[in-house]
Amino acid sequence: SSPAKGLPKDVEALVNNHPCYNEEAHHHYARIHVAVAPACNIQCNYCNRKYDCSNESRPGVTSERVSPEEAIKKVLHVGAAIPQLSVVGIAGPGDALANPKATFETFGYLNRYAPDLKLCISTNGLALIDHIDALKAHNVHHVTVTINSVDESGEIGAKIYPWIYHDHKRYRGVEAAQLLLKRQLEGIKACAEAGILVKANSVLIPHINDKHLGEVAKVLRDLGVFLHNVMPLISKKEYGTKFGLEGIPSASSKALMKAQEACGTDMKLMKHCRQCRADAVGLINQDRKDEFGKESFNALS
Ligand code: SF4
Ligand code: SF4
Repeated sequence: SSPAKGLPKDVEALVNNHPCYNEEAHHHYARIHVAVAPACNIQCNYCNRKYDCSNESRPGVTSERVSPEEAIKKVLHVGAAIPQLSVVGIAGPGDALANPKATFETFGYLNRYAPDLKLCISTNGLALIDHIDALKAHNVHHVTVTINSVDESGEIGAKIYPWIYHDHKRYRGVEAAQLLLKRQLEGIKACAEAGILVKANSVLIPHINDKHLGEVAKVLRDLGVFLHNVMPLISKKEYGTKFGLEGIPSASSKALMKAQEACGTDMKLMKHCRQCRADAVGLINQDRKDEFGKESFNALS
């Protein structure tokens, strides 16, 4: 069912042509991700930095990085070719808010040259609370936060995040997990209070947070999160010893269904997410990024 039905008018206006927030819209409206954000401020065990942020993207794909100037050129070019384009997102390849200069420069250009497009970011949430005013000032009304645990002891989080980097300092273990969680929850709450629609992603990691996701959904609902998207871990051999996920298999579809069930009683669940790349273009089920590589727009003035 479409989350757009039966909503307050202001929320409906935010989701009616957003393919990621509205299952019906995803057949008709297109999105583009511009890969302007290479750095990250945390390490997730399932992430291999050579590739896109695995929070929003399938692991193992490398997106075409663009500068803010190239990003706006690309968006205008794609918008002319795909009239259904309604959303521009920054989803990596690292973390949108670990690269605030490039991210907000890009949004500045978009505000100026493409004011009709909806803007969104995806983030691990560590730096979210520091950027609420900037997001509002740049008309960013959609934020996706990846949150895999709400365990206050930090023990689940410590198995997922070996370190975080905050305020010029590196934190590790449960201390890192506790600080990340605290800042994620503060950031989500502040977004909800500012009228920014929050979608949450959780990566289902067998044996680590699979039984915990119902609890995550509950906390998120209480904070006003609009939509929850549970994504299966896609295991890779290279995760093994190096990334501390040795022996952890990919999440099975049965496990995914179980986790979605545990979460779904509390909140609308997004089941059509395709874990798009950081440079995805087009309708959600139809990635046209190859038609819109740098050579297609860099020749334009
Ligand atoms: Fe990788 Fe994204 Fe995690 Fe950063 S937030 S470590 S880019 S998966
Ligand atoms: Fe939408 Fe998911 Fe793709 Fe992001 S990754 S554009 S939320 S379908």
